Amino acid sequence: MRLPDMGAWRKLAERYFAPAWKVDHPVEVECGEGVHLVDRQGNRYVDFTSGYGPTLTGHCHPRVVKAIRHQAGRLIHTATTVYNEPVVRAAEAVLAVASIGGDPMIHFMNSGAEAVEAAMKLSRLATGRPAFIAFRGAFHGRTLGALSLTTSKGLYRDCCEPLVPGVYFAPYPYPFRSPFGQDPEACAQGCLAEVELLFEHIVPPRQVAAMFVEPVLGEGGYVPPPISFLQGLRRLCDAHDILLVADEVQSGFGRSGRWFAIEHAGVEPDIMVIAKALASGMPLSALIARREIAQKWSPGAHGTTYGGNPIACAAALATLDIIREEGLVENAVEQGAFLLSELRALQQEYPMMGDVRGRGLMIGIEFVQDEQKTPWPEAVQQVVAECRARGVLLAACGPRSQVVRLLPPLILTREQAEYFLEIFADAVASVTR
Ligand code: PLP
Repeated sequence: MRLPDMGAWRKLAERYFAPAWKVDHPVEVECGEGVHLVDRQGNRYVDFTSGYGPTLTGHCHPRVVKAIRHQAGRLIHTATTVYNEPVVRAAEAVLAVASIGGDPMIHFMNSGAEAVEAAMKLSRLATGRPAFIAFRGAFHGRTLGALSLTTSKGLYRDCCEPLVPGVYFAPYPYPFRSPFGQDPEACAQGCLAEVELLFEHIVPPRQVAAMFVEPVLGEGGYVPPPISFLQGLRRLCDAHDILLVADEVQSGFGRSGRWFAIEHAGVEPDIMVIAKALASGMPLSALIARREIAQKWSPGAHGTTYGGNPIACAAALATLDIIREEGLVENAVEQGAFLLSELRALQQEYPMMGDVRGRGLMIGIEFVQDEQKTPWPEAVQQVVAECRARGVLLAACGPRSQVVRLLPPLILTREQAEYFLEIFADAVASVTR
């Protein structure tokens, strides 16, 4: 038997791709199945990255594959030249689960960044105001508009100035590294006070169109905020007629243990942006807005050729059915609580696991070198490499990549969670300076 030339794809990729195309793991994957990825030699990896979030129903869920195959044989593309059934059905299904009031309307696009751009444009149009408020550490995408709101890593903004003007930043409540102390409430109140200071000193609220917030900080470090923070933002927005935009691109569709992470706070945004898990990995995103806001758009004022592609919409319909019928939101609560409590027990043995935090199956483990909480990205690299050598793929996040982020598919079973914990504990034990 001829063995595959391992490393061949990697060599070609390194030759052809601009280096911005950064690949985390030197693994050549041939196929995916449920929580597993299988490489060219037949090695199976438990995928705790979900490809940065989209494969929430697992790799190649049979119902998603069937929906895609069926739709591909009927209609692949029309754009907005005519109506087609999958896009209308997908709109209906997504609006039925979206936690947003005001008889909302939807606009489909392809990627998360695009949906954020659309929210920037629509909120300016709807309010007639120029400015935005975003939170330090947040990630909203890497196109120029979305990048203007993104501060999770300086790297993304390097050499991109000037960005969209009129964006002002306040701190995101990050109790583990908060200038307001580790008490989550004090941290939330401190961050809200900073927003008010922005209003007082820098940008009068009547100039602010929208506040953009991730209901759980994603790429910035997997930080669930105290719910009083999101409630406080809603109050500030109401007081000043500012639109609240929830970026649920990463936290949506059950990942946090609710359909949308903002539901934990019991508040409704005015605009919500979604992508990633929406179509189990087919490129599809959307903006959802209260009707009176969405209606400000003139026909054709915004759009994109591939937005609402019929195959992606068929995949979205299957995805929503799977989440509901297989109880994936409930499973995120159950497996998330199990992983969190086991990881916190492990933390007692290993002080380098400085903070273990999460909501649902969105869990961050922040590694520190000492009691001063000096970030320890090298330890994260070692843990990730050791886990890979033992058959588990992980991703990092945080400004210095000092956080291991766990975002497995929501079909994760207890046995698979236990298997992961065993390997993760071994990997942590092997970390050396
Ligand atoms: N918003 C959030 C919260 C994200 O996590 C991401 C991607 O990771 C984006 C926006 C950008 O999405 P995309 O990569 O599809 O452009």
